[in-house]
Amino acid sequence: MKKEEVLRKHKEYLFPSVANYYREPLVLVSGKGKYLYDIDGNEYLDFFGGIVTISIGHAHPKVTARLQEQVGKLVHVSTLYQTENMVNYAEKLAEITPGRLQKCFFTSSGTEANETAVLLAQLYTRCTELVALRHGYSGRSMLAMTLTAHSGWRLGGTHIAGIKHALNAYCYRCAFGLSYPACDLKCARDVEDLILTTTSGKIAGFFAEPIQGVGGFITPPKEYFQVVEGIVRKYGGIMIIDEVQTGWGRTGKMFGIEHYGIQPEIMTFAKGAANGLPIGVTIATPEVADSIKGSTISTFGGNPVTMAAALATLEVIEEENLVSNCLIVGNYLREKLAALKEKYSLIGDVRGMGLMQALEIVGENKQPAPHVVLELFEETRKQRLLIGKGGLFNNVIRISPPMTITKADVDQAVEILDNSFQTVVQKLKI
Ligand code: PMP
Repeated sequence: MKKEEVLRKHKEYLFPSVANYYREPLVLVSGKGKYLYDIDGNEYLDFFGGIVTISIGHAHPKVTARLQEQVGKLVHVSTLYQTENMVNYAEKLAEITPGRLQKCFFTSSGTEANETAVLLAQLYTRCTELVALRHGYSGRSMLAMTLTAHSGWRLGGTHIAGIKHALNAYCYRCAFGLSYPACDLKCARDVEDLILTTTSGKIAGFFAEPIQGVGGFITPPKEYFQVVEGIVRKYGGIMIIDEVQTGWGRTGKMFGIEHYGIQPEIMTFAKGAANGLPIGVTIATPEVADSIKGSTISTFGGNPVTMAAALATLEVIEEENLVSNCLIVGNYLREKLAALKEKYSLIGDVRGMGLMQALEIVGENKQPAPHVVLELFEETRKQRLLIGKGGLFNNVIRISPPMTITKADVDQAVEILDNSFQTVVQKLKI
């Protein structure tokens, strides 16, 4: 097929709301490691990984081999039957997740994983109200859109009652006008006021991402979750942590919440768990997991093919020491991005952890500058680098390459970013 035909069919047969990057959408046909190839044969260095999902590189030979073997053997049985892959993956997760997380429920997306998490918290605590965070993103079901706190992603003026949104730890734009650490974590302490003033005073739980992904990699200070945890437990709630973007080593620890020293009762995963195959995981402590008394089912949950990919992905993460690679190469990337910030006043903030780094792009007085980001996207594309976008105002560049990249890849990507900034500054005369 020619590119024009793909673009035409997309326009004709898909919802117009299926948003694409770039003025002319990019049509991709293959991937290998850190590279993607478009329909015209151009090669791109992939520094977004299909929205923080390609953990170990495109078409990793180990995953591909396992998939081929499994596809030839058994593709589907549903959760009504048991398979080796499913129990082995669940066992592995129980081993590597923090605290007493031990029992899994498998689905096919982050949205479903989060739905399951909220259901569990409500059944376990016999409360319905929850606290989530402003700037959070949780998925696209009615409940997940209600948890989400970005007007642009809360479609249809939904929503479900009983979910309150606390101010997030957005230090670059502190809602209280304070600075860390002198602020004494006022945003975390304010969760108590939120519970006392906007709920019945008893909550099912607190729901948060360790680093807010879609929000633009907003990274709370190290004490944040401990302060919140104390308050949440005081009012009967449990901690639900969404590791959909932060899991599997990307932040320099296996799970993002491990930077914060708390042990949640529930964690959710999706995206990078199976290196691109559809997956959702909700893992809980035994007593929380046991609180679903009836039966529940997920047709595609724990699918043997997906589970094969997830097992192989974890093996590669361990064998290739990718957690420490994220830390080392991530710190190197961070230094280089910090140097770019010194060079371009357009970069208001550099934040993130490991190979999850963001640049917030602003004009004068921290005005969000999404038009500049659009230009940077066109320019980086021309120079064959793929990056991501996020933030409430679409003015944050998100960088989340496969966790296998090297310092040389960082050099190449940052050089392209640097050139692109230069071109855009000249073009827009800013
Ligand atoms: N949680 C987080 C933190 C996410 O980033 C996303 C997806 N961007 C989701 C949940 C929803 O995942 P999915 O799109 O697989 O439903």
